[in-house]
Amino acid sequence: AQESIKDADFILPPDVDAKSFVAAMDEMRKVVGSENLEIITAAKMMPDSDGHYFNLPREHDLFYCLEKDTFLASAVIVPGSVEDVSAIVKLANKYLVPLWPISRGRNLGYGGAAPRLRGSVVLDMGGRMNKVLNIDDEHATALLEPGVSYFSLYGYLQNNGHKHLWIDSPDLGGGSVVGNALDRGAGYTPYGEHFSMHCGMEVVLPNGEIIRTGMGSLPENNTWQLFQYGYGPYPDGIFSQSNFGIVTKLGIWLMPDPGNAPTIRNTLIDAAVYAQKAEYSLSKEVLTETEVDEIAKKIGVGRWNIYGALYGPEPMRKLQWEVIRSTLMTVPGASFQFAADVEKEPKAKVLHMREETLKGIPNTYELGWLDWTCKNGSLLGFSPISPVTGADASRQYEMVKRRFHEFGFDYIGTFVVGWRELHHIVCLTFDKTDPDSRRRAHRCIELLIDDAAKLGYGEYRTHTAFMDQIASVYNWNNNSTLRFNETLKDALDPNGILAPGKSGIWPKRLRNRGFEI
Ligand code: ADP
Repeated sequence: AQESIKDADFILPPDVDAKSFVAAMDEMRKVVGSENLEIITAAKMMPDSDGHYFNLPREHDLFYCLEKDTFLASAVIVPGSVEDVSAIVKLANKYLVPLWPISRGRNLGYGGAAPRLRGSVVLDMGGRMNKVLNIDDEHATALLEPGVSYFSLYGYLQNNGHKHLWIDSPDLGGGSVVGNALDRGAGYTPYGEHFSMHCGMEVVLPNGEIIRTGMGSLPENNTWQLFQYGYGPYPDGIFSQSNFGIVTKLGIWLMPDPGNAPTIRNTLIDAAVYAQKAEYSLSKEVLTETEVDEIAKKIGVGRWNIYGALYGPEPMRKLQWEVIRSTLMTVPGASFQFAADVEKEPKAKVLHMREETLKGIPNTYELGWLDWTCKNGSLLGFSPISPVTGADASRQYEMVKRRFHEFGFDYIGTFVVGWRELHHIVCLTFDKTDPDSRRRAHRCIELLIDDAAKLGYGEYRTHTAFMDQIASVYNWNNNSTLRFNETLKDALDPNGILAPGKSGIWPKRLRNRGFEI
């Protein structure tokens, strides 16, 4: 049987032949059980028509903007415990098989579950490790495994006597709380800066060793989820958007007494929540200003719309609202609405949907965007950061609109106010079944990354296809940040087995061998 194993039968990672790949899979199968290891072949890629938000492929990106098999995995493994993860990592070192950890793999617009390096094994951390391990009512904290989604955490709190504890959900509730925090995703309540709200991690290092950060390294501690730093250097940051470790547990702070976090959305992002472009316009071109004005009128919103909430006892909210109202009403043409005063029939409005999000109730309304130009459309996220000024917001809007017009896309976007900055979230929707649409989408974002860098704006997160490019624009002092990351990478992961290429960080073994794009 040994002779019949052919390289062509597998999606092999670099430096691994079929024989040693099969040997690695045989040993890994012994760790997790055969039902938790699947070898991928090109024929096994999920057909496009089967993929949707609740049935996402784990071996490739549903919204591929290059070729469907560019970022294809060689296998998917579902570990059941921290010990499994550690054992798999040790075997990965033995056979030089790269691993790409995901939590729920719903990283929509940023590459989904797919690995950056073709042939990597997707380690589905959320498939079986999906428990809420602890809720501390008194201190409003949670300890979670990677597979806990916003929906499941919300359900758990509702059903287990913790209704007074709120969570912060991003636009879509099916993602992993741990995965989103690790990729430094954002939500809309005061706890929207997800990574800042984490407290304590358990991490499997690239050599298989397990560490706990913060107070977690004090064996009998009772403050792992209460104090973020512990003693000595604070390493948590290096496990976010990186390839330095696999997070197996994460503590997060829940929201007992929230404040306010507004977003400013353009007309079309709201229009896209309700219906496809064809419902509004016969135009196949980028919509003109007049056409967007007409759509705004039709759906009863402005060209820019702030959605926000005030929290706390009613007398305080009333006072705060007076201050906000009198300030905002000085803007010419401004008007306001409360969700309770707007008809929900025959169809709930975006205002009602955002009301849920601002209460930390997970939902999936915003999936509507995907179909803006075609059914089963695809999404590419572009997310530069800027100061919270009108001048910066306008400059960014003009910058994106110009490129979108050039490449034939309608601007759909939102500005999310963070602690001291704006997350500008731009949603490029394209038709992946049309190679020209894919090419335009990819080229458009490629140029925008450079446009943004020239104006001093950098992305906070990215799709797999742009990881190297974005790392290359964060290049102050002759790329000293990338070189620092590479030094860490080589020390922690000398065999280069963990998520090669994540955030543009390649291990020594694979660096400058043509895998960068
Ligand atoms: P979500 O389902 O919340 O959108 P993913 O599971 O796709 O998120 O995770 C987003 C990214 O975060 C992944 O591509 C991976 O780089 C990183 N990541 C996710 N889970 C882990 C983990 N347990 N350990 C290390 N990195 C992770």
